[in-house]
Amino acid sequence: MAEHEHVRVAVIGSGFGGLGAAVRLRREGITDFVVLERASSVGGTWRDNSYPGCACDVPSHLYSFSFAPNPDWPRTFSGQEHIRAYLERVTDTFGLRPHLRFDSEVKRMTWDAERLRWRIETASGDLTADVVVSATGPLSDPKIPDIPGLDSFPGKVFHSARWDHDYDLTGKRVAMIGTGASAIQIVPSIQPKVGRLTLFQRTPAWVMPRVDREISGVERLLHRQLPFTTKARRGLLWGIRELQVQAFTKHPNELGFVEQLAKRNMARAIKDPALRAKLTPDYRIGCKRILLSSTYYPALAQPNVDVVASGLAEVRGSTVVAADGTETEVDAIIFGTGFHVTDMPIAERVVGADGRTLAEHWKDGMQALRGAAAAGFPNWMTIIGPNTGLGNSSMILMIESQLNYMADYLRQLDVLGGRAALDARPSAVHAWNRRVQDRMERTVWNTGGCTSWYLDASGRNTTIWPGTTSEFRRATRRVDLAEYQVLRPAAGTAPDETAPGSSAKKTQEAAA
Ligand SMILES: Cc1cc2nc3c(=O)[nH]c(=O)nc-3n(C[C@H](O)[C@H](O)[C@H](O)COP(=O)(O)OP(=O)(O)OC[C@H]3O[C@@H](n4cnc5c(N)ncnc54)[C@H](O)[C@@H]3O)c2cc1C
Repeated sequence: MAEHEHVRVAVIGSGFGGLGAAVRLRREGITDFVVLERASSVGGTWRDNSYPGCACDVPSHLYSFSFAPNPDWPRTFSGQEHIRAYLERVTDTFGLRPHLRFDSEVKRMTWDAERLRWRIETASGDLTADVVVSATGPLSDPKIPDIPGLDSFPGKVFHSARWDHDYDLTGKRVAMIGTGASAIQIVPSIQPKVGRLTLFQRTPAWVMPRVDREISGVERLLHRQLPFTTKARRGLLWGIRELQVQAFTKHPNELGFVEQLAKRNMARAIKDPALRAKLTPDYRIGCKRILLSSTYYPALAQPNVDVVASGLAEVRGSTVVAADGTETEVDAIIFGTGFHVTDMPIAERVVGADGRTLAEHWKDGMQALRGAAAAGFPNWMTIIGPNTGLGNSSMILMIESQLNYMADYLRQLDVLGGRAALDARPSAVHAWNRRVQDRMERTVWNTGGCTSWYLDASGRNTTIWPGTTSEFRRATRRVDLAEYQVLRPAAGTAPDETAPGSSAKKTQEAAA
């Protein structure tokens, strides 16, 4: 990467968010951009999570880009390797390869208030950009809790998002820590293979059956020959989930009926009343993500599985000790303990107009205008930012809404002409956040009686969108310039040193 290279847009990350942004930029006729990726291939979540059983838990026909339908999804909930291959295909189909910069971890981005641009330091060199689109993912940096004695554990330790495929689990005594979305896919996949599996469960999950089946050849042929059938299928999957939102956001008591279905799902597989009691949650369904599996409970009922209804507290040599004192000797510890969500590592690396990092700005909780823009961080936006997560539908819908917003943001900058930057007004950010937090008060995520990764250290829900995806789509259709301050270079600023042909220079010329 040449030093001092300048681009109009720097996209960070090459998961669904970053690749989607890249496609959208090209569709808008913008080619002066790079995608900076710390790894050496695309895929994000679907490159990093290769654990046995890894699959989406939103049906594939909805969990994919609307502009790149895939008539050939092999299963209703396709596996990681198929989703990863899909993202590789999207990369090729839309000609994104020339824009990709692998092994380019972004170490720091600093706003240059004089030149109205971002100075970006990466593992493969430095560059500047007019606009940064940060798509580093909410579930991208694995979190392993600080467990006393873990460092001296003589066996194997890894996180579900960094699966060690060279380690053979056959016959091993394995401790699985956590009962989240990854753990419930891992448990049934490794249970037949391991010698003994001990599941450390701090909080039981509500688990509904997963209606996963092969998508037949006939269906696939139909989808290929008649593309509107793929659209109709997607529309149906989307509509059902939109209808569910009211119960999550306004009438959590209506979810009691779903709890009965989940209890029946458990009772079918778990005959031992003591185990059933351990596995029955004491909070309203939906408060934590509802998990889908038809194989999790049957696996837990197998004789080589123990459920410890307590979190891991300590490791003593090869013995793992639960908070309730239960001791188990194991060969391997697998952490299914999630990610840094409300303390996104990228926030420590973005330095805004006042010289403080985004993490410092967000020390009392993340907030961003329309889930994208933070005050004091001009021309910087994040994809899947604060309060854009979903409890029941496809994140791709939210990503595509944010891409509409991104496209309009760039259009607005063009319309403004010359060198300009948009900085979200603090009043607009606060007003947006207040509206979101007011709506949050009645939701199941806040009232359901659980603690979850949706909540930050102070108990505020800074991750979930408390509405339908169509409401979010409407809220992000256009950039309202009244919500932004337009920044111009200070008088006397040195002329633009941008290389000839760069978009910043072109914009200036066009405005002249
Ligand atoms: C196991 C698992 C299953 C999931 N299943 C579903 C599902 O079924 N339905 C659903 O809606 N959502 C699901 N999700 C959520 C999922 O994360 C999102 O749907 C989506 O994939 C996020 O895409 P993204 O591009 O924002 O982030 P990611 O896919 O995480 O991509 C972020 C990219 O940014 C890169 N990056 C991070 N930091 C830097 C840096 N400093 N410099 C350069 N590059 C950087 C990362 O390497 C990564 O490639 C799942 C998540 C997990 C972990």
